[in-house]
Amino acid sequence: MTAIVKDTQTHNQLPQSLLQATEPIQDLLETASLYLHIPFCHTRCHYCDFNTFAGLLPLREPYVRALLHEIEMAGTMARHEDGRLRRSRTLFLGGGTPSLLSVDQITRILNACFQSFALDADAEITMEANPGTLNQEQLIGIRKAGINRLSMGAQSFDAELLKTLGRIHSPQEIVQAVDFARVAGFTSINIDFMFGLPGQTMQHWQETLKRALELRPEHLSLYSLIVEEGTPFQDWVNDGSITPGDEDLCADMYEYADELLRQAGYINYEISNWALPGHHSRHNLTYWQNLPYIGMGTGAASSFAGRRFSNEREPLDYIKLVKANQLPTVESEDVEQAQAMSETAFLGLRTAMGIHLPTFAARFGQPFSQFAGNRLQDVEKAGLLEYEDDWLRLSTRGRLLGNEVFLRLLPD
Ligand code: SF4
Repeated sequence: MTAIVKDTQTHNQLPQSLLQATEPIQDLLETASLYLHIPFCHTRCHYCDFNTFAGLLPLREPYVRALLHEIEMAGTMARHEDGRLRRSRTLFLGGGTPSLLSVDQITRILNACFQSFALDADAEITMEANPGTLNQEQLIGIRKAGINRLSMGAQSFDAELLKTLGRIHSPQEIVQAVDFARVAGFTSINIDFMFGLPGQTMQHWQETLKRALELRPEHLSLYSLIVEEGTPFQDWVNDGSITPGDEDLCADMYEYADELLRQAGYINYEISNWALPGHHSRHNLTYWQNLPYIGMGTGAASSFAGRRFSNEREPLDYIKLVKANQLPTVESEDVEQAQAMSETAFLGLRTAMGIHLPTFAARFGQPFSQFAGNRLQDVEKAGLLEYEDDWLRLSTRGRLLGNEVFLRLLPD
């Protein structure tokens, strides 16, 4: 999607909270954001390639018990040498469909995290939810348990398109879910929508955005459809029964959304993400700033203590490993300094803020210019990068050709 970005935003339009580091980088590197994966769904959506399973709902309780045990083991693994618990600034319950768990199960998971990690008093605690699986009582319960941000996969306000996607909810259920969430006291709600869908016209997209804005969510994530391998969508594209939106239409949809959302007061702080001031996702910024995180649950990935590792993907195998008191890690690699520098650079360039050069130098003990050497000379000359104060970011043209820049930042 980098090929279709139109950028009219300057640093002057970004809030200070996004431009100023809240804490020294060395302190942030001592934290770990937490991700917990809940791999259950009622049915598989036709485009989905996430590590999630339909038909396994009876496994929910054994899975939650295993997850509680993994949280305890991970908390011990992540402790400081002097025994202090690892500090966490954000926690994200994703999936899958975490809203298929009961309030009691969600409360137990959060309590386990509070016991095994030192969560900040004002930690951002997000739960993903499917609008077709929410009710008022449950939302009041999870708000009470400590969830303070909801992220809803709405995808479209068009009933036909929702059917094409294989989603189980109706457009009315999206509105109802947001109403329930507001009554339950949620003041930070993200809603995901998709564009470039088979059969989706510009008119459909405009209507979806209009109805989305009527709900005034604090955050919106807009993704273009990617046809993933092994999904029903891929089969249907191959046999010609569906055709996703073409690149030009997707570009027009993106530009329309960007303009509309900016006029409505949202800030496009990352390619696919818009937020009202103060409501950017702190958890997702952890990833884009390449800060440490620990993932728990099936298939969850971690980046912690100079290592990247991921968990067993199959729920039954995962449960077995954890029951045997083993951390369910199945893949692991050390992250060399050169790789960490590259990743920090290109993840930073995905954001509207770009790379904060003094922070980069403090983190890696060498200035960005030394790391980049003359690798960026030609893209700088071609006007793909621009400097503003202490920041380096992609220019408007650079965002159109982001991959040209990213390739040059790969380790030798
Ligand atoms: S609800 Fe989300 S995770 Fe579950 S199948 Fe649909 S897209 Fe995949």
